[in-house]
Amino acid sequence: MKTIGPAAIVSEIRDESGKVRTVCNFSTLQIDPRIASALRDAFDHVFGHNSVETRRQAWRCIRKFSLCIRKCNQHQSVPFSKDILRVFRDWLVEQNLKGATSQSHFNAVKSIVLWLSRNVTGIVSTDLIENVPSFPRDDLTKSVFLDEEIIKKILAAAYKEINEVSIRIEFGRRLLRGEYIDAREQELADLLTELLSLDVNRLFPTQQLILRTGRNLIARVQNAGGIRNLSKTLYLGPNDIFLFYLVIVVQCSGNPMAILSLKRDCLRFHPLRSDREFVVWSKPRAKREQKADFSNSRPHSAPNVIRSLLAQTEELVPFAVQADRKMLFLAYTNQGVRVPCFQLFHMMLAAFIERNNLPNFDFKQLRKSGGLLHHQAGGNILFAKERLGHVSTSTTRRYTEQNLFREQNDRLILKFQGEFVRTALQDTQIGDGEDGPADLCRKIAASIGPDRILLNTPVRSINVGDGHVDVEAKSTYGRYRAVLCAVPPPAVRKIQFSPPRSTSRERLLQALPMGRVIKIQVVYQRPYWRERGFSGQVMSNSYPLSYTIDNSPADGQRGVLAAFVCTSKAKQFMDARTDRRAIVAAAINQMFGCNFPAPEEVLVEDWAANEWIGGSYGAYFPPGVMTRMGELLREQEPPIYWCGAEYGQAHPCQIEGALDSGLRSARSIAAALAQG
Ligand SMILES: Cc1cc2nc3c(=O)[nH]c(=O)nc-3n(C[C@H](O)[C@H](O)[C@H](O)COP(=O)(O)OP(=O)(O)OC[C@H]3O[C@@H](n4cnc5c(N)ncnc54)[C@H](O)[C@@H]3O)c2cc1C
Repeated sequence: MKTIGPAAIVSEIRDESGKVRTVCNFSTLQIDPRIASALRDAFDHVFGHNSVETRRQAWRCIRKFSLCIRKCNQHQSVPFSKDILRVFRDWLVEQNLKGATSQSHFNAVKSIVLWLSRNVTGIVSTDLIENVPSFPRDDLTKSVFLDEEIIKKILAAAYKEINEVSIRIEFGRRLLRGEYIDAREQELADLLTELLSLDVNRLFPTQQLILRTGRNLIARVQNAGGIRNLSKTLYLGPNDIFLFYLVIVVQCSGNPMAILSLKRDCLRFHPLRSDREFVVWSKPRAKREQKADFSNSRPHSAPNVIRSLLAQTEELVPFAVQADRKMLFLAYTNQGVRVPCFQLFHMMLAAFIERNNLPNFDFKQLRKSGGLLHHQAGGNILFAKERLGHVSTSTTRRYTEQNLFREQNDRLILKFQGEFVRTALQDTQIGDGEDGPADLCRKIAASIGPDRILLNTPVRSINVGDGHVDVEAKSTYGRYRAVLCAVPPPAVRKIQFSPPRSTSRERLLQALPMGRVIKIQVVYQRPYWRERGFSGQVMSNSYPLSYTIDNSPADGQRGVLAAFVCTSKAKQFMDARTDRRAIVAAAINQMFGCNFPAPEEVLVEDWAANEWIGGSYGAYFPPGVMTRMGELLREQEPPIYWCGAEYGQAHPCQIEGALDSGLRSARSIAAALAQG
């Protein structure tokens, strides 16, 4: 009786034309079918939209994960232990891979595990531990940007090797055309011709076929350097294809995976200029065509390099595996004609770097560096955006601005902030705007006159009379011609108005709750993070700290990290019964991956607990409020005038917004008073 086995659990990786490029057979992973099937579903959902190469890479990561769970005996029962991510991390450490490689394997598997924890019950433990330390960075990832000189060196080395390859191929072709110049060349030409005639269904005979043919041929092949060497005279192998690939990645600054999928019809003429040509490729994740244009007059410009590659690989096409026939980077290998896998190119890159004595780099750095160089050369991020094929400059910024432009941007922002303050307070000596906000407050107070400022004196009521406004505050009272109400929206509602506030304003105030952020100043004896080369700025989506900033005083006498606990975590943090100081210190150590000495001071400010502020950073505008009631933020109701961060037309809910609205309202009051 014939037994029918269970259906295979597979996922097919198809290219955009629908052709199957790789079949990922989860049934071969030797794990419980339930786990295999869940992994397959997660793989399809998480990586289904990525390029063929990225999906292949993710499949390799899943295979590694299956080895790991088999080793730790978690492959036959579910759910996985709650520390499965940690287990996988430890397993990767044992494999002795590079830090960046381990991290990339880990990230792929983590997204799969997280998807499972959210979408499939019973596979992942409900108390999964997500927080797993990152892998230490190796030297490679430290230098993210390659400067122009290095890029030029990389290209020069690649062009030189490409020329050598082309000379080699042209030599072989010349021999086949019968254009030999001496007896040695003729002998080689005869040998090549004989080898090519052995099997018309193959490009080149296999070792076995030669062995079967006879001793004489074997000896001649050996004398000529062996079968592999001979095939190299006629066809480009993976090592040769790598050089073309490298040049095109550098010139296009394209996503390395997407560039590997370049098609043979990737060249397109420029619609307006005959001296320029486009290289066009697709990047599934971006869901749109990517392209870069080049001058076609330079011999090594990408279009010319591609044309040369097309010519040299033309005869490989009919012998390519079906799925690769339209691909540009076809290589002759022992197993047939195909596009080499990305992993292989990684290894070839390492060898290329070594033999050309270049600094260490990887393919991703080429893309980032290309973007940066275009940004620098064009003087505008739009040049980089165009070349990197991004929809928005905010993505490009991540590529180009991280290093070079960060400092420049910071200085620019400081300059404008300083100028803003100077404009807002023209009569005061406010300094150059680089002082902290507390100093700004002190200077504003000094310009008004300290005796005219009443601290700890909350206003209780505002009564509009005939030509005057009476203001009643704790322990004082005053009659004025106009009032500027500069308190946060929820605090306004604590003041009694007569006549009452208009219904529209009341509804606006009701609609604006304050956000919730807790600010913590963590004071250390020294800024220890600087000694490790860290800026002090960390962002995290784990509990409790969302981010930290180096807030140390300019004299460097103490190290101060400003840390923030945001939104729902703020409640959890303030409700915690444990020592908050210890929680904060431990969180910082974890974020920095260091063991800093205990902080001297941890100052916690919960702005929501301040009844006159009500929360932070400012009011939150739920959907619809701005569109339905936003107009009211600009309306004044003489003799009552409104201002505050929420009323700012530029940078609302920030200091600039507060200054902007304060300035406008002050001008309105001055104009009204001038008219009498
Ligand atoms: C932790 C934190 C970090 C921030 N970081 C930044 C940043 O990096 N950059 C940035 O631009 N902005 C930042 N902000 C926001 C910025 O501080 C505010 O937007 C800005 O200070 C608001 O200014 P304001 O004058 O409108 O209101 P506030 O500064 O809140 O001043 C309102 C004043 O009104 C007083 N008041 C309330 N009720 C009464 C009453 N009845 N009688 C008398 N006085 C009353 C309050 O006591 C308060 O002093 C941050 C805010 C917080 C909390």
